[in-house]
Amino acid sequence: MELIYTFLVLILGLAVGSFVSALTYRVPRGISIAKGRSFCPKCSAKISWYDNIPLLSYLALGGKCRRCKEKISLRYPLIEGATALGFLYLFSYSCPPGSFEVACLWKSATGSLYLPFLLFIFTLMTAIFVIDLESQIIPDSLVFTLFISTFLILISTDLPIFTHLVSGFSAALFLLVLFLITKQKGMGLGDVKLALFAGAFLGWPHTVTWLFASFVLGAVVGVILILLKKASFGKHIPFGPFLVVSFFVSVFFGERILAWLNF
Ligand SMILES: [Zn+2]
Repeated sequence: MELIYTFLVLILGLAVGSFVSALTYRVPRGISIAKGRSFCPKCSAKISWYDNIPLLSYLALGGKCRRCKEKISLRYPLIEGATALGFLYLFSYSCPPGSFEVACLWKSATGSLYLPFLLFIFTLMTAIFVIDLESQIIPDSLVFTLFISTFLILISTDLPIFTHLVSGFSAALFLLVLFLITKQKGMGLGDVKLALFAGAFLGWPHTVTWLFASFVLGAVVGVILILLKKASFGKHIPFGPFLVVSFFVSVFFGERILAWLNF
């Protein structure tokens, strides 16, 4: 990728990341995302535009509020940086000829709509990752926006819509059954609704790859957290972040993972 192009994508990613960090702060607290400028949670000072430049302002202010010197949470530069890197990846991902990766099936089915659509999905999924991690909820508004936009684009393509929808409903049903028999430990109804979207996007067989990868990732991270004494058995670890990470792994690497597993 040309340097200037990389630079522009990073700026776009940082700007969207800044939106994601505000969104993920406001949605769980019931604050409108259309309402006014950001403010310091400690001294309520409105944050000027020059103190609100993604990543750079955090560094320039040394991670402290200009007025009250309260530490600014690391979540802001982390979310902004991660979103920018994700954008860079999405822009630079190229499909080998004849690839059956989910991303490539969507790319050939949607043409010029592919990149904006994937950036949109990545943005909302990043927000879901953060909100579930911090607040243990997955907002309906985000999940249904994902499902409805996927449905609308799906019916305008020649992708097998029936297979995609059945994948979504099967994945949701599977998680719902788990939710009911485990009596809410670890799994929530938000995960069930998220599966409706993810399955509809991934189709068959990568809905299975996705669920499988989510449980493997969840188990590995769970064991590591227990070993590090950051968590204990029976304590609630939100499942949404694993679902989100595995979703993108399946979108971009699902075929290669299945090939590697000899399926
Ligand atoms: Zn302050």
